[in-house]
Amino acid sequence: MSSADCIFCKIASGQIPAQKVHESDDVIVFRDISPKAPAHLLAIPKKHVKGLAELRGLEPAIFEAIAQAAASEKIAASGFRVVLNQGAHAGQEVEHLHFHILGGRQLSWPPG
Ligand code: 5GP
Ligand code: ZN
Repeated sequence: MSSADCIFCKIASGQIPAQKVHESDDVIVFRDISPKAPAHLLAIPKKHVKGLAELRGLEPAIFEAIAQAAASEKIAASGFRVVLNQGAHAGQEVEHLHFHILGGRQLSWPPG
């Protein structure tokens, strides 16, 4: 499944460049273009997945990629946050499911 207008599908296929930090068969992790922390990565399934309900089966690959990217970015020891914005109330802008990985500084809690 893919969406012709989806920016993250284009990043996954290489049509649009991104700074990839990790790649596996089903998942890529790349740097957010507008970082909200010293380390701000996005982990996405390569296929167009709109929401958690459609992620079926890809969870292990996603979480493995997140763990490996956090280790390679050297934020695993000091700590990091994983955020999924889904839908309007969460402020989701890109309709291709993505997990934010944020670290490199003390993060405030709770979020606004
Ligand atoms: P959302 O608000 O949907 O959870 O987050 C979308 C994220 O994607 C934002 O943090 C935004 O900076 C990032 N983003 C949007 N377009 C691009 C792009 O073309 N390249 C990269 N690397 N990140 C993008
Ligand atoms: Zn997509």
